[in-house]
Amino acid sequence: MLDFIRTIISEDLAAGRNGGRVATRFPPEPNGYLHIGHAKSICLNFGVAREYGGTCNLRFDDTNPAKEDVEYVDAIEADVRWLGFEWTGLHCASDYFDQLYAYAVALIAKGMAYVDSQTADEIRQTRGTLTEPGTESPYRARSVDENLDMFTRMRAGAFPDGAHVLRAKIDMASPNINMRDPVLYRIKRAHHHRTGDAWCIYPLYDFAHPPSDALEHITHSLCTLEFENHRPLYDWLIDNLPVPAKPRQIEFARLNLTYTVMSKRRLLELVQEGRVSGWDDPRMPTIVGMRRRGYTPEAIRAFCDRIGVAKRENMVDVALLEHAVREDLNTRAPRVMGVLRPLRVVIENYPENQTEYVDVVNNPEDAEAGTRPGPFSRELYLEQDDFREDPPKKFFRLAPGREVRLRSAYFITCTGVVKDQVTGEVTALRCTYDPATRGGDAPDGRKVKATLHWVSAAHAVDAEVRLYDRLFKTPEPGKADAEPGKTGNYRADLNPASLEVVRAAKVEPSAAEATAGTRLQFERIGYFCVDKDSQRGRPVFNRTVTLKDSWARVEQKA
Ligand code: ATP
Ligand code: MG
Repeated sequence: MLDFIRTIISEDLAAGRNGGRVATRFPPEPNGYLHIGHAKSICLNFGVAREYGGTCNLRFDDTNPAKEDVEYVDAIEADVRWLGFEWTGLHCASDYFDQLYAYAVALIAKGMAYVDSQTADEIRQTRGTLTEPGTESPYRARSVDENLDMFTRMRAGAFPDGAHVLRAKIDMASPNINMRDPVLYRIKRAHHHRTGDAWCIYPLYDFAHPPSDALEHITHSLCTLEFENHRPLYDWLIDNLPVPAKPRQIEFARLNLTYTVMSKRRLLELVQEGRVSGWDDPRMPTIVGMRRRGYTPEAIRAFCDRIGVAKRENMVDVALLEHAVREDLNTRAPRVMGVLRPLRVVIENYPENQTEYVDVVNNPEDAEAGTRPGPFSRELYLEQDDFREDPPKKFFRLAPGREVRLRSAYFITCTGVVKDQVTGEVTALRCTYDPATRGGDAPDGRKVKATLHWVSAAHAVDAEVRLYDRLFKTPEPGKADAEPGKTGNYRADLNPASLEVVRAAKVEPSAAEATAGTRLQFERIGYFCVDKDSQRGRPVFNRTVTLKDSWARVEQKA
């Protein structure tokens, strides 16, 4: 079934509107890195263009020079491509500054805009409220000639910052506050990352966006719901400016995710305050962060497909995103063996100084992935958690006197425990193996209740493993002390256990050879991605997601 946006587009095409064209755009402001919310908008805009044989532009909405930077521009381009999309045209609102200025002049000439010399405070105070109309500015009656003269001088730098603004002359009594003579241009001496110091007046977003869409002959201007109240102004500008096309704005609900803060402003705070290691910290909901954590573009696209687009605000369970990642990695991440907290095991009936290679399946979900030779020898490491000296009832893993299977290798039986004389801590296990069980099955048909992962001590490589968890410990960070419609102190909800670094993990040699960005499943533990901090002989792995699927449980309950 088509979502409401695709329904509108299909109807427009059927009715022959826009000459049968579909043209969308993705318009980020380059004032931060893209996050998973932007991914939803990207999948929608580029997806629609792809499905309808249309076009999709990438447009930098760079009208606010104070906060924008080329670092963000470059990152945004890389992120869109990484997500699997390519833009038709690459544009910047700043490319249109001359044209936008000419449009503003045209509006003044029609008597539909004026220069207001009230202060920002006065403008705010006379705007009225939801229940009370605003009051007209004493400068509203300025003549066209005077407005043209003043606007020209604003542009020429004749006035200090904030001395005047250009406002649309619409209706101070409009029930829609956005229509109460909105500000179109302001004086601001700020260096722009593209236009340098060429301008000392900058258009506001609300003024720049509609004509930018029209100049690019956008047919469907898709944006998030907070712009719904701005649509009358969008249409007013399109109707009254001499623009070459009539785009239509359609709003959809933004993505909200549990356990996540999503605004660029807050993400920037997390970076600047050192609460994360940077925009690409694997706990960040940024595209760069998720990429470093091991998320795939396929998983993110599948997630965006699954949540769909709707008109009503809602909250998506982050477990659904994690589920999408798990589902994708399950089909293609090679399995390797890695032990996070090693417990040394000596197989006492295995010859010293012997190594043999057992066939280990690379991916049980993918027969084509084949097998690899895994080194097996007398000394191994098992996971500390997989052994209990005094096993509780439902613990089926290794314990004194008990037999278990080592994945792809042999059955072993625990025959003894070595302890630290002082602390009493278990430091090693003595075991025997059954040579007849090579490959993992007993010829006499005897069964074991557990299959454990392991690495050969002599062959294992030391690794650092970064166990990431959710960045926030509450589903709606900042909700506890929030005023209506606002986010409260989200910092108080940071999860103190969102990162645990395991420095002495042991991984099999094939895992240690993987290059940065490679995604692997550590058998029985989770999915991991080789981090860029890895060095030769000292790999670093980021945990992408555990194997436990809390979403599957949510679904079962439903
Ligand atoms: P933020 O609120 O995170 O600062 P923004 O809306 O200011 O984001 P823009 O750079 O203006 O960021 O966003 C570019 C496009 O991405 C816009 O069309 C915007 O509607 C869309 N977008 C931003 N956040 C979300 C979200 N959470 N869900 C869906 N679309 C989003
Ligand atoms: Mg914005």
